[in-house]
Amino acid sequence: MHTLKIGAYSVGRITELQFAPFAATEFFPAASPEMVEKASRELPGRITADGKIVMSFHAFVLQTGRHTILVDTCCGADKPRPGREQFNQGKQDFLAGLAGLGVKPEAVTHVMCTHLHWDHVGWNTRLVDGRWVPTFPNARYIMAKREYDYWDGVYAKEKGRSDNMHALGFEDSVLPIVRAQKAILVEDDFELDKGIALEPCHGHSPGHVVINVASGGKKGVFIGDVIHHPIQLLFPDLSTRADFDQNAARVTRRALIDKHADTGTVVLPQHFATPSCGTISRAGTAFRFDFIEGS
Ligand SMILES: [Zn+2]
Repeated sequence: MHTLKIGAYSVGRITELQFAPFAATEFFPAASPEMVEKASRELPGRITADGKIVMSFHAFVLQTGRHTILVDTCCGADKPRPGREQFNQGKQDFLAGLAGLGVKPEAVTHVMCTHLHWDHVGWNTRLVDGRWVPTFPNARYIMAKREYDYWDGVYAKEKGRSDNMHALGFEDSVLPIVRAQKAILVEDDFELDKGIALEPCHGHSPGHVVINVASGGKKGVFIGDVIHHPIQLLFPDLSTRADFDQNAARVTRRALIDKHADTGTVVLPQHFATPSCGTISRAGTAFRFDFIEGS
């Protein structure tokens, strides 16, 4: 992508994967074939001819002049994800993508996690001599304490089970950060700096947060997995099978869409295919996502 500007801040994106992993009616249990058909017509290229949703798995790099911040870190390399062939033992060269944006791993000051699902924390760590070590040696990793505590509890019950992707991700991509004393567990409304703050947006996961940024009168919001696919702007009540609490996810999604519609806020989702970012506007009783070319 071209670097996107939010006031004086710049945002780059590193795409690890982009493909069509799930049937829309499977991923959105309440989606009818008619809804999918309407979305296919109105969102060209974002749903395949056989009804699958095109998704991206990417990270954002936010540069403020003072900070170099990674927002979510995709799936990672060499991570065991049994039964999920597209993700198991990945070999994507994320660091080449980072280098393409002119950023060295040592230069990353913070990694901010919207939530701790395995496909958002993968590059938190990398495998060196058989051990998982922090990929960004000088970074502080900001995680919401509520989110961390929930997954810590899941891990205590599920560790050793190879069929729980989240427990596996917690073990190889979150715990090594805590053990290396690089994690900072924060409240849901933590402010990193003036104009960079978390906001609770629970539902997709128990402690999910979004990250609001503001610079020079412009605003942006890194929304993590509050919205997975633009079909949810056409039908904002559609929750996903990946949502921890589908009803809470629906309520927070509606509130987030409402808050940012017609404001010009740049919305940066973690799974929208290229171009990925845009602004929300009202369109009758639903909404439209106006993609920013090259984002
Ligand atoms: Zn997620």
